[in-house]
Amino acid sequence: MRQVAVLGATGSIGRSTLDVIQRHPNRYRATVMAAHRSVDDMEALCRTHRPLHAVMGDPQAASVLAERLADVPSVAVSSGAEILDDLVADAAVDTVVAGIVGFAGLRPTLSAARAGKIILLANKEALVSAGGLFMEAVRTGGATLLPVDSEHNAMQQCLPVDLEGRPNMSDVEKIILTASGGPFRGRSRASLDAVTPEEACAHPNWSMGRKISVDSATLANKGLELAEACWLFDRRPEQIEIVVHPQSIVHSMIRYRDGSTLAQLGQPDMRTPIAYCLAWPERVDAGVAPLDIVAAARLDFEAPDLEAFPCLALAQWAITQPGGMCVFSAANEVAVAAFLAGDIRFTDIDKVIAGTLQGIDLVEPESLDAVQALDQAARDVADKQIAGCFTRPEA
Ligand code: NAD
Ligand code: MG
Repeated sequence: MRQVAVLGATGSIGRSTLDVIQRHPNRYRATVMAAHRSVDDMEALCRTHRPLHAVMGDPQAASVLAERLADVPSVAVSSGAEILDDLVADAAVDTVVAGIVGFAGLRPTLSAARAGKIILLANKEALVSAGGLFMEAVRTGGATLLPVDSEHNAMQQCLPVDLEGRPNMSDVEKIILTASGGPFRGRSRASLDAVTPEEACAHPNWSMGRKISVDSATLANKGLELAEACWLFDRRPEQIEIVVHPQSIVHSMIRYRDGSTLAQLGQPDMRTPIAYCLAWPERVDAGVAPLDIVAAARLDFEAPDLEAFPCLALAQWAITQPGGMCVFSAANEVAVAAFLAGDIRFTDIDKVIAGTLQGIDLVEPESLDAVQALDQAARDVADKQIAGCFTRPEA
């Protein structure tokens, strides 16, 4: 029986993970579940999955949850970063699903790496902000790192891997990272000024949390994924080609030196990569409908439009700078939250990121403290950009 800690249990990744776990009650059990403050959702999930521990990021939410679950004494409710660090490192957990959104997911994921757990990584922001530190923790802790992000999962599936899940890159010429292009593919930058959060979150192919949905719409997500692929597969950015593929059926490709290109195809449903990682090196049913290739009929590919979507170009520059992606990711988080709150326009997101990258001394953070300090400094600069430079869009 695999004991799984599901971090971000109430989110899109968390729910997809719990759905796969529920299909295989003799193989997997969610023993730890963590979320931020959505008490109603967490209560319902705890009643269904009966974890040993439920951890809320928000202390107030934890006390409400504890009251609500008074009739289920087997679930211990708690709150706090230290408690979560200890729980994911505990011997009672062997697999950790990193499904918290944003920089907040870094600490528990690092703790899992140091403790040598099997890590199913969805939280790309943690890797992007602290890549060197995180990969070092995976190596020294003896952790197994399996990418859940659909593109990186596709890459992993198209590569020879050793018994620890480490890919062998020796004959690889290029990684081809596919992008859906998001809901605004084909539109001009000028036409994007007035788009609403609802429009930005209406992804044509995937159902995801709001932050990553906006990232998909700006193509910032592909910038984060470029950095993610560099860390996971030990590549330089120029060894990775980004191609827009609007159908989201080919999830990425690996081109080998002999001219062969391998691709992984599937429905745009995160339960497939999650099930792959949970069961690896075996395969289990994920509850996903089989891909009907005749019905899909067409697979289109085109170059990304960097003029309409400058976030990707900004990421391609930031990735070459020391600490650049830590700053990019922090500024992006702040800007996306402001856009979702109605405080800035969609087209202000890249301006906030660009202003933050310009307004900060870029240095390579060598420790967790340094990463946290650089992240916070970037957030402060990004907040100033938002407060000083932009006015609230018309309602
Ligand atoms: P979501 O918004 O649906 O869920 C986020 C989860 O994180 C929630 O459970 C929330 O309670 C929890 N959380 C947020 N802040 C927290 C905190 N401070 N402490 C504890 N928990 C906290 O997001 P999502 O779409 O599931 O995405 C999660 C991560 O997975 C992101 O990093 C995203 O980039 C990545 N990812 C998601 C998808 C997808 O299809 N949704 C695909 C690839 C990668
Ligand atoms: Mg992805």
